[in-house]
Amino acid sequence: MKTRRERITLLLEESDHPLTAQDIAEALGLENRNVVFEDIEHIAKSLKREGKQILIRPATCGKCGYIFSPKSAKRPSRCPKCKSEWILLPGYLIRRKGKK
Ligand SMILES: [Zn+2]
Repeated sequence: MKTRRERITLLLEESDHPLTAQDIAEALGLENRNVVFEDIEHIAKSLKREGKQILIRPATCGKCGYIFSPKSAKRPSRCPKCKSEWILLPGYLIRRKGKK
């Protein structure tokens, strides 16, 4: 039996498009997608040792198109520019370094 983090890693390695925490939670049958954000941060750190990297499609504001910093895997709650709370979630993919 794989751990939740292993399953998320596998999912992101095999996907051909970025998956949001919502997608991941649904794929794994998790009720609380907030755990996914925590897992992603953990996974991002441990991947470095394996020669893999996590690619983050940054969260964007659904109202004005503001792009949030891709550095944080966390979900922003509000747009700093227009104060909208309509935030499109960040998407994640895992790829081996040096390959495309
Ligand atoms: Zn905005």
